[in-house]
Amino acid sequence: MNRPGMADQQVVVIGSGPAGLTAALYAARANLKPLLIEGLEAGGQLMLTTMVDNWPGFRDGIMGPDLMAEMRAQAMRFGTEVLEGNVTAVDLRHRVTAVDLRHRPFTLVMSHGRRITTEALVIATGASARWLEIGSDRTLSGHGVSTCATCDGYFFKGRPIAVVGGGDSAMEEAIYLTKFASKVTVVHRRDALRASKIMQDKAFANAKINFIWDSEVAHIHDVGAGEVTGIVVRNLKTGQLRELPLEGVFIAIGHTPNTSLFKGQIDLDANGYIVTHHGTRTNVPGVFAAGDVQDHIYRQAVTAAGSGCMAAIDAERYLEGIPEDVSETEHTVA
Ligand code: NAP
Repeated sequence: MNRPGMADQQVVVIGSGPAGLTAALYAARANLKPLLIEGLEAGGQLMLTTMVDNWPGFRDGIMGPDLMAEMRAQAMRFGTEVLEGNVTAVDLRHRVTAVDLRHRPFTLVMSHGRRITTEALVIATGASARWLEIGSDRTLSGHGVSTCATCDGYFFKGRPIAVVGGGDSAMEEAIYLTKFASKVTVVHRRDALRASKIMQDKAFANAKINFIWDSEVAHIHDVGAGEVTGIVVRNLKTGQLRELPLEGVFIAIGHTPNTSLFKGQIDLDANGYIVTHHGTRTNVPGVFAAGDVQDHIYRQAVTAAGSGCMAAIDAERYLEGIPEDVSETEHTVA
């Protein structure tokens, strides 16, 4: 074991989405008595979703918040201690305000002053989808506005929808959504896409996709009715407003990884995602990262949960003093 008895905790997990809760579940079942700090967006992005149809094991689907409640209860059943954050942001008692990863054991400072030391740390703080911040987009979230085509595309069979954004995500979502939607209108703020050439070509070749250039979504109707009935598009060059009747809006303008706490202490890539190697290891021994905070490609609940499991196993091995390349050697030999 690394410095047994020196820290308050053997393992602390920050974040309570599928990655964090699965890491806590596995760490708890390994008798590591993990402490999980929920964070401000407790439950993660699935709390913003309605029906989840792609979580294996639920043939009829499960509501996102219900799935997260089950995961949380399961992690607690095996002895995870949960420090509740606050979703309303009124009570910030359990927010981590600072992290010191330079000295072992690692220190976390909470907003109410409590300091927690830990031998190993799993960072599962996720990434937050960017919103348009026009009010109606957040209000109608889960009621026709979505930030996840894989999660919600199915609900738009035969309906006209819009995708906002011009990057690879927007093109990927637009193409995917043509499987369901009757028509997909991409609204992009410039006259050229940011997406890779191959994704652009695919999108341009798809007869169900059309583009509105140099434009932003100024408003989404109908907040009063609690459903999407259309959008108001503003041309950024002429200022002209245009009404577009449709039934769904997918916002694909990028994600922001929640890594501001770790800046300067841990390797991040150019987009701010934590860089991992050999599974979930970061450049700081004893610090592991799981889920969307280190993955901008797959971003699925099930892949996040899988990497949470890996992080707990990696942390357990670290605490037992098993060198990091053992599993690779075993694999190569096998
Ligand atoms: P991204 O590349 O940052 O693109 C974001 C898009 O949203 C841009 O077109 C941007 O416009 C637009 N945008 C940003 N803020 C906006 C706002 N407030 N209002 C309206 N539009 C806004 O993000 P991404 O598409 O999520 O991709 C992230 C990374 O993952 C990229 O490296 C991408 O290549 C990669 N990725 C790869 C694949 C794939 O290879 N299959 C799939 C998905 C993602 P501007 O262009 O004007 O800046």
